[in-house]
Amino acid sequence: METEDRIRELAEEFVAQAQARVTRLQAELVDAHQRIEKIKAELDAARQAPQRLANFQVKRDGDYQCPKCGILHGVQAAMTGSPGEHRLGRFQCDTCRFDMDVRH
Ligand SMILES: [Zn+2]
Repeated sequence: METEDRIRELAEEFVAQAQARVTRLQAELVDAHQRIEKIKAELDAARQAPQRLANFQVKRDGDYQCPKCGILHGVQAAMTGSPGEHRLGRFQCDTCRFDMDVRH
């Protein structure tokens, strides 16, 4: 009888361990699904990059457009220019804050 009790006791311990894993694994599964969705979105954007370049307008309504927003997100976003140092002009995107220097 002692042997049977010990086996049952160990079996119940395995159940307790499994139940503890269920919660952790469910959380990991949610994280994995979120990661998959993020990767799919990034992959989709990367695949669209050449087409976005074809549609990208460098200048629109008199404003230079952000290349990062245009290619990575498929949106036109104006950049604001400001004087830079050493014959450089600086432009910053009003939307994503991407900035770049341009030689005059
Ligand atoms: Zn931008």
